Amino acid sequence: QTPVPADIEIAQQAFLKPITELAEELGLQPDEIELYGPYKAKVKLEVLERLRDVPNGKYIDVTAITPTPLGEGKTTTTIGLSQALGAHLGKSVMTCIRQPSQGPTFGIKGGAAGGGYSQVVPMEDFNLHLTGDIHAITAANNLLAAAIDVRMLHESEATDEQLFERLFPKDKQGKRHFAVNMLNRLKKLGIDKTDPDEMTPEERSRFVRLDIDPDSITWRRVIDTSDRFLRGITIGQGPNEKGMERKTGFDITVASEIMAVLALTTSLADMRRRFGEMVIGTNRKGEAINADDLGVAGAMTVLMKDAIKPTLMQTLEGTPVFVHAGPFANIAHGNSSIIADMIGLKLADYVVTESGFGSDMGMEKFFNIKCRYSGLIPNVVVMVATVRALKMHGGGPKVVAGKPLDHAYTNENLELLRAGLGNLLAHIGIARKFGVPVVVAINAFATDTQAELDLIRKVAVEEGGAEDAVICNHWALGGEGAVELARAVVKAAEKPSQFRFLYPLDIPIKEKIEIIAREVYGADGVDYEPLAEQRIAEYTRLGFDRLPICMAKTHLSLSHNAELKGVPKGFRIPVRDIRASVGAGFLYPLLGTMSTMPGLPTRPAFYDVDLDLETGRVIGLF
Ligand code: ADP
Ligand code: MG
Repeated sequence: QTPVPADIEIAQQAFLKPITELAEELGLQPDEIELYGPYKAKVKLEVLERLRDVPNGKYIDVTAITPTPLGEGKTTTTIGLSQALGAHLGKSVMTCIRQPSQGPTFGIKGGAAGGGYSQVVPMEDFNLHLTGDIHAITAANNLLAAAIDVRMLHESEATDEQLFERLFPKDKQGKRHFAVNMLNRLKKLGIDKTDPDEMTPEERSRFVRLDIDPDSITWRRVIDTSDRFLRGITIGQGPNEKGMERKTGFDITVASEIMAVLALTTSLADMRRRFGEMVIGTNRKGEAINADDLGVAGAMTVLMKDAIKPTLMQTLEGTPVFVHAGPFANIAHGNSSIIADMIGLKLADYVVTESGFGSDMGMEKFFNIKCRYSGLIPNVVVMVATVRALKMHGGGPKVVAGKPLDHAYTNENLELLRAGLGNLLAHIGIARKFGVPVVVAINAFATDTQAELDLIRKVAVEEGGAEDAVICNHWALGGEGAVELARAVVKAAEKPSQFRFLYPLDIPIKEKIEIIAREVYGADGVDYEPLAEQRIAEYTRLGFDRLPICMAKTHLSLSHNAELKGVPKGFRIPVRDIRASVGAGFLYPLLGTMSTMPGLPTRPAFYDVDLDLETGRVIGLF
């Protein structure tokens, strides 16, 4: 249809299969799914056991060049490509994408269900709440936060003996027991007793008193709303917590380490272990304190037991989609879950998954972090490029969300485009460093001209060494508009994968950071502020230096400076601070000031969203 109707209109007019039918088509057994209404179902992890011996399908990552703030269509392309593979070429395919955060949905960017005739449906469900996984993360994160502060309060008021009596109350028979969530701390402290009464006074005081250093606490509270006034807060101002005031703050839920664990875990047992190992700070001796020390990791696992199952949905053309986990790619690792990909690779011959932002962000972390923990080998990278973003890199005027595009973007301008193509070449080069073949998807917009699209195609193949570069129209046409892309991807997936990591884990933290800075960002080197130096020394002492690196960097430039477009040269990366997500399993250096809690613009997307009271339909989501 021309013009293409609004996303929500297309989505609401779609014919949806009952999710039970889709599950059956996928070969899932009725007892392997849990229904959440007619169009959503969670898939149980037991399916991995049943399909253990089935060979994996081909694993395709969709990434992009450095985007404008509007996004260049990765999700749309992920879905369009899947629709082409499944509904037009007759391949069995699974799409794996992240669940969007309510922050951006109501803020600047809007929803994330794709667009035009390439969308996940029902899009209202997809964009808001879904099956409650993000709420579960909020609950688990904040339970741990509450546990930290209350423990400090109780320890401040009680002697070791009093703490012992409270932690080990006697039952009717006069016997004391270790609670299940005490066992990991006992093991860590090397206390080999089965009865608390057998503990020596020295063991008692070591066990009962965590002696958390309030200044060392890195665990923050979370909420899934872009509420910038929670970035910095003071807690403990009630009359009964007097003297326990502490400055802390909120992050957006998707930035929680719990979200990172959900995305990187491979089983319930693995998730339980990672939750227990999450470090919240240190004691006054400088020793790491984790969630198992606080006895809360078991309850957190219970809160997350349903969230660990991916949610099955569908595209507009009835192909299956797993929606699972949702970390951002700038402040977190930016990929959907390993579990969804693992199940998808057993159920389908092709798994198309999206990694966030440009290849310097989500794709680098997909390879170096996600594939390292999953052991899965990627077969193809699909690199999404647009005329609009390339013109911006060539020196076009600033692109601002919510403002109309300058005519430089809507009229043919081959010189501006040519000047920006270096950014595409740099991104193809980054993907090729990992040994994975690259297919460029040129996501066509209505205002692009044939000459512009052809120029990108030619340069990508002739100068970039891409396997292929294909002009796609899946936004306007659905899967039909991405059939050529699908054919190119199928062909590239037949090549044997030469996949390799960019760095080994057993080198010093600084060396890993420098490899990413030089090889991926094109920096001349890295400078560390004193805080970062201090943390590197501390994490090395604590043995966290063997973890992979998750850089927190702007996605709007290959460099750390959002203003530098194209292919920045002659810059050094400043590392301000480094944090550890020990349970999730990475260190994250902060380049400059990266906010872990977005704000809202003057006219947020929520202005458009309402309920049509006549029909009961949601309006204004996009
Ligand atoms: P990303 O996943 O890369 O951030 P999205 O796929 O979410 O990008 O697309 C960003 C926005 O651009 C969405 O609103 C989408 O509908 C729109 N969009 C994507 N491709 C096109 C296109 N070819 N023409 C018009 N709008 C598009
Ligand atoms: Mg996206």
